[in-house]
Amino acid sequence: MIQENIKNIRAQLPENVQLVCVSKFHSEESIMQAYNAGVRDFGESRAQELLKKVVNLPKDIRWHFIGALQSNKIRQIAPFIYMIQSIENEKLLQETDRQAEKNSRKINVLLEVHIADEEQKHGFAENEIIEFFEKKKWQNFLHINFCGLMGMATFTSDNEKIRKEFSKIKEIFDKIKNIFPNPTFATLSIGMSDDFPIAVEQGSGMVRIGSKIFGNRIKN
Ligand SMILES: *Cc1c(COP(=O)(O)O)cnc(C)c1O
Repeated sequence: MIQENIKNIRAQLPENVQLVCVSKFHSEESIMQAYNAGVRDFGESRAQELLKKVVNLPKDIRWHFIGALQSNKIRQIAPFIYMIQSIENEKLLQETDRQAEKNSRKINVLLEVHIADEEQKHGFAENEIIEFFEKKKWQNFLHINFCGLMGMATFTSDNEKIRKEFSKIKEIFDKIKNIFPNPTFATLSIGMSDDFPIAVEQGSGMVRIGSKIFGNRIKN
């Protein structure tokens, strides 16, 4: 089932769009099925769960952190995390930079932009993120690779609304690429199970898909 689902999703993605399988709340067995279908990028949203999974699963998995972050969680995942996609403010960026330095490495980061009109979604406001690059604030973070932006659209069945939100973040992404011409800044992570076709249409470079691959999550 999982392997078929992956095949199905891949068939809908242009070649230049990366797939991150969101495995939060799913078992190591399920992850191994996706792994055996060739997937190496997995997304998790809880540090404790991720720390447990990392121990048993293959070492060539690239783990993406996509959940709400606190400083103590950054410390725990800093030694091995491939990319943190959910950096929603400068304070978390500072802590990530500090922990990366402690581990003598650089950490790949996507900055999360708040595009939905839902209070519970997180991220930098448009003016904050533009200012961050205009004022060259990135210069303060020597152990961070700024790889791009991440965004989540409003949870709604109104496709036009979702389209507008994705189009907005694409516009912000292109604007930043002009003021920060660093080749590492190349990834726009938008699109989940229910809205990834719209995200792809609007220029997504990375989709994060969970339930359409692993089935519904049983939360505990
Ligand atoms: C859970 C989650 C996803 C995957 O959601 P699905 O709808 O199951 O595909 C993607 N991105 C983020 C940030 C998430 O928290």
